[in-house]
Amino acid sequence: MHPYQEDQEHRRSVLQAMLLVTIASALVFAALNFPDGMMLVGGIQVALATLAAGLLVVVRRTRRVQTWCLLFLLILLSVTILLLSRPEISPFAFIWLLVIPLVTHLLLGSRLGLLLSVGSMGAGAALFLYRFGGNPELVRVEVMSNAIIAALTTLGMSHFYERTRERSELRLTRLATIDPLTGLANRARLIDVFHWEQAQARRNGTPLSLLMLDLDRFKRINDEHGHEAGDAVLVAFARMLQQRLREIDLISRFGGEEFLVLLNNTDSKRAVDVAEELRQSLEQLDIEYQGKRLKLTVSIGVAEYGPDGLDLDTLSRVADKRLYQAKASGRNCVRGPIAKSGVEQEAALSK
Ligand code: GH3
Ligand code: MG
Ligand code: MG
Repeated sequence: MHPYQEDQEHRRSVLQAMLLVTIASALVFAALNFPDGMMLVGGIQVALATLAAGLLVVVRRTRRVQTWCLLFLLILLSVTILLLSRPEISPFAFIWLLVIPLVTHLLLGSRLGLLLSVGSMGAGAALFLYRFGGNPELVRVEVMSNAIIAALTTLGMSHFYERTRERSELRLTRLATIDPLTGLANRARLIDVFHWEQAQARRNGTPLSLLMLDLDRFKRINDEHGHEAGDAVLVAFARMLQQRLREIDLISRFGGEEFLVLLNNTDSKRAVDVAEELRQSLEQLDIEYQGKRLKLTVSIGVAEYGPDGLDLDTLSRVADKRLYQAKASGRNCVRGPIAKSGVEQEAALSK
C-alpha cells in the first residue's frame, strides 16, 4: 500500500471510531437532557448524532478522509462551543475541553491538531471566563491552576504521541521502500508507484516508459578496487541519475547493479533519448574514490507501457531483453523499440 494510503486508512479508522463515540454520547446526553426540560440542548445533541451517523456512511468509502476529518472536527467543535455557551449548561461541562487535543491530533496529525487544539481550547477558556469570571467559587487559584495544568498535559501528551507516531511511521515507510545504500526507491516502492502510474496512463492516455540500466563489467570494480569502491560507484551512479532525471521520474535500485527508471508522460522515442543522455553522462563521469578516478559505462534497455506490455512483469522482461541485446552489441549502448540507428537496432534485436 502507498504510504499516503496507509496514513489515510489509519485516519479513516480513527474517524469511524470517533463518529460512533459521538453518536453514542450525544444520544445519552440527549436522553438525560430531554426529561430535564432542556429541549434546545437535547435537540442540538440529537442533530449532532444524526449528522455523525450520516458522516459514518460517507466516511466508509470516501477518498478524501482528511477533508471529512476536518469537517467533522469543525462541526464538533462549533457544537461544543455553542452548547457550552448555553446558560443551562453547568461549568463542569467545560471538562470536555480536555478531550479536544486528543481528538484533533488523532484525526488531523501533529501540526493541524496543535493549531486547532490551541484555537478551540482558547475559545473555550475565554467562554468560561466570560460566563463564570464573576464567580469567586470557580475562579480560584487552585481551580484555575488544576484546569490549566490538566489542559497543558493533555495537549502536550497528545502532541508528543502523534509526533512520535508520525516519525515512526515515516521511518518504517523509509525502511520498507528505500534502498539503504543509494537512498533510491527499492523494488517494493517501484511496484507501488508503477500501479499508480499505470492507472494514470490508462485514465489519461499518456505514455509511460521504463528503462532498465545495468552497469557494464561492474564486477571488475569490486575485484580490482574492493567492494567498498563498488558501493561508492553505485552511490555515485545513483546521484548522477537523480541529477539528470526529473523529480517526477521514479528511480529504483532493482538488484545489485541493476536500476529501473519509470518515466511518466514519456513515449519510448523520448525515453531512448533520455537513456542515451544518461549513458553519455556516465561515460564522461570520473568517479573519485580514495584518490583514484574510476571510469564506468552502462547498458540500457527501454520498454513502453502499451506497445510492449501492460504490466510491470512483462515490461521489465521486454526491457531486460533489450538490455541483453545492448550487452550483446558490445555494452555501453541503448536499445529500445525505436532505434537511434534503425539498421543497428534491427540487427541487435534479431540476434
Ligand atoms: P555485465 O557487463 O555483463 O553486466 O557484467 P557485470 O560484471 O556488471 O555483471 P555481473 O552480474 O557478472 O556482476 C555484478 C556484480 O555486482 C557481482 C556482485 O558482486 C556485484 N554487486 C551486487 N550488489 C552489490 C553491492 O551492493 N555492492 C557492491 N560493491 N557490489 C555488488
Ligand atoms: Mg552489470
Ligand atoms: Mg547485472
